[in-house]
Amino acid sequence: MNRVFNFSPGPATLPIEALEVAKNEFLDYKGLGMSVFEMSHRSKDYEAILEETKALLKKQLGIPDNYHILFLGGGASMQFAMIPMNFLSADRTADYINTGAWSQKAISEAKLFGKVNIAGSSEEAKFTFIPAQNELKLSSDAVYVHMTSNNTIFGSQFPYWPDPHGKPLICDMSSDILSRKIDVSKFAFIYAGAQKNIGPAGVTVIIMNPDFAAKQKSGLPKILSYATHIKENSLYNTPPAYNIYMIKLVLQWVDQIGGLAEVEKRNRIKKDMLYGAVDNSGGYYRGTVRPDSRSGMNATMRLGSEELEEKFVKEAKAAGMIGLKGHRSVGGIRVSMYNALPVAGIEKLVEFMADFKKKN
Ligand SMILES: *Cc1c(COP(=O)(O)O)cnc(C)c1O
Repeated sequence: MNRVFNFSPGPATLPIEALEVAKNEFLDYKGLGMSVFEMSHRSKDYEAILEETKALLKKQLGIPDNYHILFLGGGASMQFAMIPMNFLSADRTADYINTGAWSQKAISEAKLFGKVNIAGSSEEAKFTFIPAQNELKLSSDAVYVHMTSNNTIFGSQFPYWPDPHGKPLICDMSSDILSRKIDVSKFAFIYAGAQKNIGPAGVTVIIMNPDFAAKQKSGLPKILSYATHIKENSLYNTPPAYNIYMIKLVLQWVDQIGGLAEVEKRNRIKKDMLYGAVDNSGGYYRGTVRPDSRSGMNATMRLGSEELEEKFVKEAKAAGMIGLKGHRSVGGIRVSMYNALPVAGIEKLVEFMADFKKKN
């Protein structure tokens, strides 16, 4: 077997240790004579998987005991709509910090349900930085403040946690959840599509303060109401059971390597190494994001010409490094280095970058 270094932005690389366990348990999960795919979601065995996944997530992130943890389908994109549908109404305002393409999508869905105040934006600068706290214009009566902690497409990441002035803080953490320690109690609501840092596509993790949950509107379709999923413990409809099981395996891996302290340490090494190579290339590689706002998950950079960039992507692929092409709205190269991307992957890439520069 020849596994590549997978720098894809999502779905993304998963820890080989988690995949190995999945492989070993695939045909016969714990002696039950069937796979997790085939198991009833009403069985004790599935319930054990669900509860263990929740317990592991709680342990790793330090989620307060009373917070709700949900696993829902529909991707993070579904949450763009479900959040305002549940919490925003026509006569009320929600604050949104606009830091990239995913923020924009969240904003356009919110506008269907109520008033949106853009509390900060880097759109005019092509999303090359994260607005500072003193640049935010929060409204006095917002029902919540929404942010995107890591901007997967533009390669920026909040270097600080905004102070929402007492309002509920909602965060789309799809592309950096579990990449660093956080204080969950500061957030009213966290959501993350699993396919960047914690599992396969098809499930979204939701972490919710019960006081905020209590503020949801009534009269919603059952399937689109958080109250339903809280009451039914993410078992109102048939859950994406296998994907939740994969999240469990990824969380077990995080636990085994030493938790978020170790994850954060490895991510810091990768980030410093990669941007170090960019900054020490004499302008051959140019980071597209202001240094104070650079993402530790998705590093975006440009080379001298599109031809060179194409050549870079092609030759890297031939050398066993895939998924490096930038998003079409930014161009260039994007190096996604989520939790499961080993330090050795960045070492190899940095070597390749130096070699490529010499030859071109
Ligand atoms: C990938 C991504 C999304 C979209 O996730 P889906 O699961 O495809 O809906 C939303 N927000 C951020 C920050 C992302 O990286």
